[in-house]
Amino acid sequence: MNAELIAVGSELLLGQIANTNAQFISEQLAALGINVYFHTVVGDNAERLKMAVKQAESRADLIIFTGGLGPTKDDLTKETIAEIVGKPLVYDLSALDSIIEYFKKTGRDMTENNRKQALVIEGSQVLENRRGMAPGMIIQAKGRTYILLPGPPSEMRPMYTDFVNPYLSKRYSEHIVSRVLRFFGIGESALETKIIDLIENQTNPTIAPLAKESEVTLRLTAKHQKKEEAERLINETEALIKERVGQYLYGYGDVQLHEIAFQLLKKHNQTLSAAESLTGGLFSKMITDLPGASSVLNGSVICYTNQVKETQVNVPRPLLESEGAVSKACAEAMAKNIRELCGSDLGISFTGVAGPDKSEGKEPGTVYIGLADQNQVKSFKYQFSGTRAAIRAKTAKTGFDLIRR
Ligand code: ATP
Ligand code: MG
Repeated sequence: MNAELIAVGSELLLGQIANTNAQFISEQLAALGINVYFHTVVGDNAERLKMAVKQAESRADLIIFTGGLGPTKDDLTKETIAEIVGKPLVYDLSALDSIIEYFKKTGRDMTENNRKQALVIEGSQVLENRRGMAPGMIIQAKGRTYILLPGPPSEMRPMYTDFVNPYLSKRYSEHIVSRVLRFFGIGESALETKIIDLIENQTNPTIAPLAKESEVTLRLTAKHQKKEEAERLINETEALIKERVGQYLYGYGDVQLHEIAFQLLKKHNQTLSAAESLTGGLFSKMITDLPGASSVLNGSVICYTNQVKETQVNVPRPLLESEGAVSKACAEAMAKNIRELCGSDLGISFTGVAGPDKSEGKEPGTVYIGLADQNQVKSFKYQFSGTRAAIRAKTAKTGFDLIRR
């Protein structure tokens, strides 16, 4: 569904008045989810109006006119549209009655051209003008909708609000459905590259990527007259996206990665403990931010120095001396030992270089994460980039990502 507005009036072209009618109507249509692709302004001239209508018909399903419905010679909108849709003008009796009534009330003489204001296009839905004399019209013809409204904003606006808006919202308003997909472990440009054809070629739903705090989100927005259809369109596109990057998708909407991991552990009645070096408690802090954390987190140790790694987490001194604290062996020992020390189902460990300087000759962003359960210990090596804060945050989030997988 897309609309074009045609404002008729030479005074608009002369710059004597601004096209505030188009502004008002566009705003109203946008609220209904109806796209407006063109605003056209044309003078009080039948030939040029015909040209404008012809062009609008080639690119719009809904054409809304304002102006030129009055009694004077230069008001020729309805005559021209009648000709275009091939319908005669006929008197609308109730419009005629209210015009006669209006003249009686004001004690003025009614002239023939005032009668002309009660002429409407045959078969149209006539819109009562409660603030003036010229009625508006809605015409269905040639597979399109033509709506004629008076020029004066004081007449046009209430007519729009009382009749046009209900008419359009009943028939054309579209449901706008949005879904946000959340990804972790893949950068924005890598994700975009994998789905660039979908982003570029797809208009319903649209796909809008956004990168924030080492995560990428995709907002899918679909429009359809039926809500279920809009949802179906979104499901279809989501399936296409999942085929390519599904392993990085962790959740929807506002949900956070650590909430997903937490819910998973809770669901499986699993407890957890962390030995945190470079994260300095960040990981455990994120869990304890969530209500009910005690059902999952037994306890953790911040083992920042080698001495504390040795005395509190039982990492053997020879291991620390030969491998260094930023090592696979240290990460695995930390994970295994913290699990046992705290009597948890899972142990996780973080050791690495948060930066900005090197440590043990290793680059900032070098990170090892260990993960232990009762059967085995695994570890993962990463090379993160960014500020000290970004590296620590990525490390903690990656811990949650490993748990959710
Ligand atoms: P009338 O019965 O008053 O003649 P009409 O439907 O014939 O109404 P026009 O004659 O085209 O409308 O315009 C009447 C007045 O309405 C203009 O002088 C202007 O003040 C206002 N008007 C017309 N078109 C617009 C517009 N697009 N935006 C804002 N005001 C407009
Ligand atoms: Mg006029």
